[in-house]
Parts: sequence; C-alpha cells; structure tokens
Amino acid sequence: MDILKTISQMQKWSKTKKKESKTICFVPTMGYLHQGHISLMEKGKSLCDELVISIFVNPAQFGPNEDLDTYPSNIENDLLLAKKAGVTAVFLPNKDIIYPENFQTEIKLQELPQFLCGKFRPVFFSGVTTVVTKLFNIVMPDIAVFGQKDYQQLQIIRQLVMDLNFDIKIVAGDIIREQDGLAMSSRNAYLSISQRASALCLSKSLHMARDMVDQGEKNPEVIKLKMETFIGTFAETNIEYINFCDPETLEDINVIESETLLAIVVRVGETRLIDNTLL
Ligand code: AMP
Repeated sequence: MDILKTISQMQKWSKTKKKESKTICFVPTMGYLHQGHISLMEKGKSLCDELVISIFVNPAQFGPNEDLDTYPSNIENDLLLAKKAGVTAVFLPNKDIIYPENFQTEIKLQELPQFLCGKFRPVFFSGVTTVVTKLFNIVMPDIAVFGQKDYQQLQIIRQLVMDLNFDIKIVAGDIIREQDGLAMSSRNAYLSISQRASALCLSKSLHMARDMVDQGEKNPEVIKLKMETFIGTFAETNIEYINFCDPETLEDINVIESETLLAIVVRVGETRLIDNTLL
C-alpha cells in the first residue's frame, strides 16, 4: 500500500495506473476509520483494480464553533485497517498542501445545500464540495464511493459531478450500524457510556417512524410529534431537526405517498449525530 502525501505524488501514481489500463476507485474520508468506511472500501474494491482512500480532516467544512480541533484521529490504526481492506494507495495530505497560501476558490451548489444540515451548518457543504472537487482532480478516479449515512452530501456530490461534468461514477454505500442500531460514526467516540445509551434514540425513532408508515400513517407531522416525544425520554438529547423530504430534491413533503427521506439530527450532549432512512 502506497502512502502519498503530496498532490504531485498522488497524481503521478494515478497517471501511472491509468497508463497500465487500471481502473481506480476512490473513498474520501476524514479518518478514524470504522466499519462504515471499510464497507465503502470493500464495495470500491469489488468495482475497480485500484483502491485509493484519502484521509484529510477538511478545515473548510467546519464552522467556527465546531469540533475541528478535537476531531478524533488515529492514523496508525487507519493505515492498518486500510491495508487489510485492500487499499492500494492512501492520499494523506496536510492542510497546507490542500489549502496553500492564496487559495481562493470555493465550489458551492445553489439549491441542495439549503435544506437539512445546510440550514444548521452554513459553511459545511461548500467546504465539502470544494475539497471533493480538488480530491477528484488529484486522485482522478473512475468511481467514487460515498455513504448514504450522509445522504444530503451524497446527493450534493451527485449533482456536483453532473454539473461540472466529472467523468466519475458515484456509487452509494449502505449505512453500517452497530449491533444495537446506532449508525457508525467517528464522532461516536465522543460519547460517554450514558450518552452512548441515549444515542440509540436516533435509530429507534427512525424504526418507530417506519412502523407507523407501514401501518398506514401518511402525515409527517403526526410521526414527527411521536418521534419528538420519544426522543425526549432519552437523557441529554436535543433535536436539531426531523425532516420528511423528497429523496431527490430534498424539499419538504406534506404527505407520505411516494418514497420519502426521513432525516434526523440529534445532539447527544455536545455530540451532533445524524441518521436517516428511506420510507
Ligand atoms: P467521514 O470520514 O465521516 O467524512 O466519512 C467518509 C465516508 O464514509 C462518507 O462517504 C460517509 O458517508 C461514509 N460513512 C460514514 N459513516 C458511515 C456508516 N455508518 N455507514 C456507511 N458509510 C459511512
């Protein structure tokens, strides 16, 4: 497994593989890898000859009061896991490589970032789309895999690829969960034992919503009220949003009559947890 720290090293690596007619799959990450990331790598590995991951905690996607400085990191373990998953190259740049002095460009979508998480994290998606654009130009993959756990991000990347004509196929990976249902996340490491128990309110409330829809409930407001009451019974929880929306446009829906995205964000203590399901 090659470890590449500069842009020219990474680009040279990819160009060499392309000359050898190898196809390249790419999984961007912020590190502190868990089984969710690994599942994306396994998916990628099955689709291409070469598997590249990036590990980069992107400062541009963190707001001023967010957890950039405390974001968990364990590069040594990440490299072991990546190697085991069959990764053939890790792009491991530092901040100054990605954002050199006098960096000026921002890539920003008009519509999709206005919904869901974008309302609460105003710089997040432009940070994501800017860095992903750069990473696509640096790694030059044929395929890139993104997790459905960050559903809005996945939709935004799909739109970005379409709008900017990247010749890259975007593949979605399922949400990987702990045995008790909690969606895996690097941020779960922040949770105390009691907060870890409270964090189950996300997956459990999504489950409850699915059951209500299965039983014929079509009114999002009725379901939302039940979810809010249920989540309120868990200690240290604070709902940021519960949204029922169109899975393509992310616009709110008033009646559940076709496939609907139910997306939820809850703060457990200081930790912001996200989850979603398609109804
Ligand atoms: P991150 O390192 O959190 O930026 O995530 C990198 C990629 O892993 C993104 O495409 C995420 O959507 C994906 N991911 C994170 N958690 C999970 C999970 N539990 N299941 C599947 N994919 C995930």
